[in-house]
Amino acid sequence: LEPLYSLMIRVRVPGGVASPAQWQRMDELADEYGNGTLKLTTRQAFQLHGVLKRDLKKTIQGFNEALLDSIAGCGDVNRNVMCNPNPHESPLHAAVFEVSKQISAHLTPRTSAYWDLWLNGEPQFTSAPNEGEEDAEPIYGKTYLPRKFKIALAIPPYNDTDIFANDLGLIAIEERGRLVGFNVAVGGGMGMTFGMPDTYPRLADIIGFVPADKVVDACEKIVTIQRDWGNRKNRKFSRLKYTVDRVGLDVFKQELDQRLGFTVEPARPYQFRSSGDAYGWSIQADGRAHITLFVEGGRILDRDGYTLKTALREIAAFHTGDFRLTGNQNLIIAKIAPEHRLSVQALLQQHGVAVEASKEYTALRRGALACVALPTCTLAFAEAERYLPELLDRLDRVIRQQGLAQDDILLRMTGCPNGCARPYLGEIGLVGRAMGRYNLYLGAAFNGERMNKLYKEMLDEDGIVRELTPLLADYAQNRQPAERFGDFVIRQGYVQPTVSGLTFHE
Ligand code: SF4
Repeated sequence: LEPLYSLMIRVRVPGGVASPAQWQRMDELADEYGNGTLKLTTRQAFQLHGVLKRDLKKTIQGFNEALLDSIAGCGDVNRNVMCNPNPHESPLHAAVFEVSKQISAHLTPRTSAYWDLWLNGEPQFTSAPNEGEEDAEPIYGKTYLPRKFKIALAIPPYNDTDIFANDLGLIAIEERGRLVGFNVAVGGGMGMTFGMPDTYPRLADIIGFVPADKVVDACEKIVTIQRDWGNRKNRKFSRLKYTVDRVGLDVFKQELDQRLGFTVEPARPYQFRSSGDAYGWSIQADGRAHITLFVEGGRILDRDGYTLKTALREIAAFHTGDFRLTGNQNLIIAKIAPEHRLSVQALLQQHGVAVEASKEYTALRRGALACVALPTCTLAFAEAERYLPELLDRLDRVIRQQGLAQDDILLRMTGCPNGCARPYLGEIGLVGRAMGRYNLYLGAAFNGERMNKLYKEMLDEDGIVRELTPLLADYAQNRQPAERFGDFVIRQGYVQPTVSGLTFHE
């Protein structure tokens, strides 16, 4: 008799934009086959948890009916392409979002296996392979990539997709409001293994500028360099970041120039200000509105006094705009028609969803990320999503005592060092070592351009609160104007700055 397997399924949403019909379908599938909740991931994808093996096919067919799929949700291929979720319809954002969709489509595996396995060989929408090219993988070849590959796009000054944590990051460059191209960064990745100092998280390095009409080709060529040069002997060292450090940036760039047939230009100036989301309402000149909701742990659910899932289902029934998943596990109800604004607001209030999130939560809680960890992820050593709210109850008391309730401080927690919630980019990073024990990292940059450094090991909850309390008190009393917590702990000498992946463990 086979055990009763239950699974997680990830649904890709390029750029994080889903239609109301797609939202409704995901909501139904979560109830029908999942555990009744939806998880918004740190890569702008949906996850369904608790799907029984016998229901897998029906669930995937359900995605397909809503023009969604789980192709490349896992595996050694390019994953969900992230993009700044800005709902304002500036031509710049529209152009960048379009590029993210092109990259996603271009790098989607062409194998027909997905359709054969789950959809009886009958694809119902256009990302299916073209006739005659079923098994041809012009980019991935017969052996695919050595490891997963992640791409994110950002539009300065917002680094809300944490582009430097990706194998390939693209920074949009504009001239007079028009997209002209992208600075290209390669070799980012958050994962490492405890006890193996040769493994490390790394931020991507910028190697130059590519015009907008060449960027899809540049992505393809970077993917093929990794396909050909990546380590296929040891999966611990098979991400692009290790390839880049092994061959060196100059050699990597020369190879890219050669494969592209032109020289990648020097990078253009840009500036990132933050990596978080801005909560609450914003209104466009044409009257359409957007609201960014804080979703704790990215979990869409109903519980006593807080029925977010029901509220969103009811909104999706009349909403004519879209839903945007952010890279910080939050949700934007975007492009709300003027005549629907009051109804949206009333429904959110009626269902106990804090519309003005800032009034309800500390900024520390609003900016916190947690990976799913236990009980869903088999790699987890410790809790993250289920436990973080409890830890934050205690940290919130310290934060409020110190008068820091509305000071944005990035806290990231994961259940293991693989880094799904980008913990090494937390001004406070907590990485699970064992049940109830975490390593504490400090000193990342608020805008995602510097990783943190190990401060203390194997702390339990009392230890975490004990270690952070004096640091937060010091920060409240001795910070300089506008100084971020991550910068402060370095200036005060609590930790040294991390300047590269190779020096992360020093
Ligand atoms: Fe990722 Fe590790 Fe968290 Fe699992 S426990 S979701 S592998 S970071």
